[in-house]
Amino acid sequence: MSDVEPTTTSPSVSTSVPAAMTTQSSARPKPGELTFAAPRGGKPPQHLADLDPAERKTAVEALGHKGFRAKQLSTHYFERLVESPQEMSDLPKAIRDDLVAKLLPQLLTPIRTQAADNGRTIKSVYRLHDGALVESVLMRYPKRVTICISSQVGCGMNCPFCATGQEGLTRNMSTAEIVEQVVQAARLLRRGDVAGGAEGAPLRVSNVVFMGMGEALANYNAAVGAIRRITDPAPDGLGMSARGITVSTVGLVPAIDKLAAEGIPLTLALSLHAPDDKLRDELVPINTRWSVDEAIDAAYRYFQVTGRRVSIEYALIRDMNDQGWRADLLGTKLNARGRGWVHVNPIPLNPTPGSRWTASDRGVEREFVRRLRARGVPTTVRDTRGSDIDGACGQLAAATA
Ligand code: SAH
Repeated sequence: MSDVEPTTTSPSVSTSVPAAMTTQSSARPKPGELTFAAPRGGKPPQHLADLDPAERKTAVEALGHKGFRAKQLSTHYFERLVESPQEMSDLPKAIRDDLVAKLLPQLLTPIRTQAADNGRTIKSVYRLHDGALVESVLMRYPKRVTICISSQVGCGMNCPFCATGQEGLTRNMSTAEIVEQVVQAARLLRRGDVAGGAEGAPLRVSNVVFMGMGEALANYNAAVGAIRRITDPAPDGLGMSARGITVSTVGLVPAIDKLAAEGIPLTLALSLHAPDDKLRDELVPINTRWSVDEAIDAAYRYFQVTGRRVSIEYALIRDMNDQGWRADLLGTKLNARGRGWVHVNPIPLNPTPGSRWTASDRGVEREFVRRLRARGVPTTVRDTRGSDIDGACGQLAAATA
């Protein structure tokens, strides 16, 4: 890797970047306005992780090197998580610099890390080649380690309770930019920079959730490319289990069907947030394109095709969507499709700048959960890690870092 990384701060300390470096270029969207096409900008440099193994060989040969060098580079990047080109001792120095410059350019420069939950949650802010900022959040639990990654700089889906949505869409991230967040997290973990974990639990990233900045299914090819790199066996990829991956979506119905057809056993999470169109039109503006029933039908088809139980996300917002009748309606709509195919994940609303909304009262939350469970719908409230460092769901907005 060509990472001559500017040393990140120790996880317990946070430093800020000069405001001039925070160049996000999108305009704030008007309420309800959706943006699908990412503004065209300079493409990130090509990276090994953008390419499949055959393309890597071709790229190495096009640079005038022997094809087997591609495998060596892949081993360094995906399997050994090498941080410095000096460690690539099986590549003669003369060609190493060229290969690293052309195929392992530094895509993500860490500019800030912040820790919470006694060092078990770490939010990283990265600068991309064009100055854009993205964030990812690493969460260590006793028996698993989850990385929450971004797939776009900003987001075009404009959900009014989400800080990222309020920033608008700056651009899509490339496959390698998405993958690199997982690689950097794996290195953080290996360096011993993340606290917690059970004695003897394996020190590796076990779960990847596409719940950072952006709508992954609106950047479909790059996101699926990243999923392939993350799941391809080492050294072609990171060799993680697809079962540990979750893609969260506002409900882009055609993309959900396309994802189901990829044959990757990952978990789909649907951001429903309301069981009725009137309210969902406001909370998740894409609902004006694909309604509650159309989104739930697509989620159910995803289950039918993949056999993977779908997760329904429901941010509980006080006096907005937390009424008992809405829990009942949600349970009824899910059960109308079948049993055992779905799980509901209420999320206590995390505060975002300028938002007039707050989380539901604990009693109201309990009642919401009780009503769903009473209808036989498995329901667990999401543990909200990192809210004190603006690292929890819906709080990622590096533009304002
Ligand atoms: N674009 C994807 C990923 C978004 S982040 C999607 O919309 O699904 C993952 C989850 O956090 C989504 O369900 C999103 O709606 C939710 N979320 C956004 N803002 C939130 C907030 N302020 N509090 C709690 N959850 C929030």
